[in-house]
Amino acid sequence: MKIFLIYGGKSAEHDVSILTAFSITKEIYYKYYDVEPIYITKSGKWLQGMTLESPVINADALKFEEADEAVLAIKEGAISTGVEISPTSIKQEDAVIFPVLHGPNGEDGTIQGLFEVIGMPYVGAGVLASACGMDKIISKYLFQQAGLPQVPYVPVLKNNWSTDAEKVFMQCEGTLLYPMFVKPANMGSSVGISKAENREELIEAIEEALKYDRRIVVEQGIEARELEVAVLGNSDIHTSVPGEIVKTVDFYDYDSKYINNEVTLQIPAKVTEDVSIQLREYAARAFQTLDGSGLSRCDFFLTSNDEIFINEVNTMPGFTQFSMYPLLWENTGLGYGDLVEELIQLALRRFEERQ
Ligand code: ADP
Ligand code: MG
Ligand code: MG
Repeated sequence: MKIFLIYGGKSAEHDVSILTAFSITKEIYYKYYDVEPIYITKSGKWLQGMTLESPVINADALKFEEADEAVLAIKEGAISTGVEISPTSIKQEDAVIFPVLHGPNGEDGTIQGLFEVIGMPYVGAGVLASACGMDKIISKYLFQQAGLPQVPYVPVLKNNWSTDAEKVFMQCEGTLLYPMFVKPANMGSSVGISKAENREELIEAIEEALKYDRRIVVEQGIEARELEVAVLGNSDIHTSVPGEIVKTVDFYDYDSKYINNEVTLQIPAKVTEDVSIQLREYAARAFQTLDGSGLSRCDFFLTSNDEIFINEVNTMPGFTQFSMYPLLWENTGLGYGDLVEELIQLALRRFEERQ
């Protein structure tokens, strides 16, 4: 069987995606699969490399340059090249697509729609769950409906802001207290998110978030621990032990996540049995509410008096060997290689059930 491993992409999380692809290739190149790497460049070109026959030496070797012939370097320093293909040309029997793309165009249902249209099995959430999970406003509406606790929030549209900013202040300041968190509706990895301590900062934060999306959300900022639960399955849902992101910084932004490594993962999280059970129940409920399948990581806030709020569901969470999602499974008894295999099997089962 062939695995089309698709990574890179046009989003801000391009490099993280390449690291994930690299971790996955280390696990599956030698198994029963022919791994076909497809790198989506920052400008959106699809470059197919050679079938992997040996492990690539580092993540950079998966960052192909365009050429007439695909060459995959296994020697240090050599550049790998890929041939441009059309996205629909990957339609094949006996193949599974493994997309490891984060953010807009990868995790938001758009590429999942392409896979549906060409009729191929693919790993991870389908169109609906991807689109809803990516959208911080829509997911809040759905979580509210499902009775999941969340911090108070105010959705803001670009048009409302430009026509009547005063009204937006009144809505925010009438419902929320400072500090507030301002976020683009469709993003990830903290891109475009800022914390506002006063009205002046709120203005800056709204302007900043609006650079990324015309729909944004202003949230009540809280002092809380950040806990995450991994979910795996289709209709049969499994949840992991909760893990904690122990912050050494006040706000878990892009740099602290990926550049400065200012985070320590505590797995399992030091929480009471009651909190752990509740988190796992909420995670499963959130997954079902969004019609999840394959995998998701559900992120929560936990206050000092054990109050839980759901923050978000990531349908394509960070997935390198050092990421929370695979580490949560490792601590729950499922290693990285077996997890990758299970995700492929889940993709095939979902595909067969729908035929
Ligand atoms: P992303 O999808 O980019 O990860 P999040 O909603 O998870 O966006 O926000 C990124 C980070 O910002 C969180 O991990 C947390 O550190 C901080 N944060 C977000 N919302 C709040 C909030 N309401 N109160 C306190 N901290 C928050
Ligand atoms: Mg997110
Ligand atoms: Mg997050």
